[in-house]
Amino acid sequence: MMDTVEAISMPAIVCHGGAGHSAKDQPGVDAAVEAGWEILQSGGTALDAALAAVVIMEDDPALNAGTGGRIRADGSVQLDAAVMTSNGQFGAISCIQQTKNPILVAAKLLDDNVNIISGRGAREFADNIGIAREKVEGSLKLTGNDTVGAVARDETGLMVVASSTGGCTGMPAGRIGDVPLIGAGLWCDERIGIAATGIGEQITLKMSSVRMADRIEEGYDIENVLNWGINQYPPDVEVGFIALTTEGEGLGLANTKMPWSSKV
Ligand code: ASP
Repeated sequence: MMDTVEAISMPAIVCHGGAGHSAKDQPGVDAAVEAGWEILQSGGTALDAALAAVVIMEDDPALNAGTGGRIRADGSVQLDAAVMTSNGQFGAISCIQQTKNPILVAAKLLDDNVNIISGRGAREFADNIGIAREKVEGSLKLTGNDTVGAVARDETGLMVVASSTGGCTGMPAGRIGDVPLIGAGLWCDERIGIAATGIGEQITLKMSSVRMADRIEEGYDIENVLNWGINQYPPDVEVGFIALTTEGEGLGLANTKMPWSSKV
């Protein structure tokens, strides 16, 4: 007899294209939501949906991740990415080079006993799992930062957060922002999934994602959680978040422009 999975939850997805990005970059975010939604609608997992959405945004040269990753002070393109699941798995890579879709490398760490790999080791890990080395052009824009992110929930109730970034323009080689840091750039547990974007050093100092998640426990709703997160920063520190809880649709909020979109 075939096992059937009882649907206990309503699938949903929310994506963002980075704090500071304008409405002209909305199409890439919409395409990411559509791709993830299609997977969820056909009974696919939140992991597959979140990864598919982020891959689309990594491949969009207008967004700062993968192909459009910002160039470092030494001219290199070094990328960070992370994935976290509501059932307690986490994987991240930082400062990886020659890799168009770093999110797929980070995802391979979910089942590994290592949580985070950086630099040369990250690229060698990708070699070992069969992800080819490719030239990553990087964005020619001289300023800007931003990140892409997705949070998905599938019919089993599993939630997954996936984030990917080129970091902030002109940062030193080897700099690690908030994106691959658990609790800072992302958080996911059985109550809520959160992805951050903005000035990585500030987000890391405040450990925003996990502190926001704790407010759900205290009885606050998703809108309150996002507002509280944003209000921890002065207005000149660009920051934005997307979040999704066990019920309802996802939400995005930023203290600047931020293309985001959701479906439930
Ligand atoms: N948080 C990212 C970083 O600092 C960039 C961004 O999202 O704006 O690497």
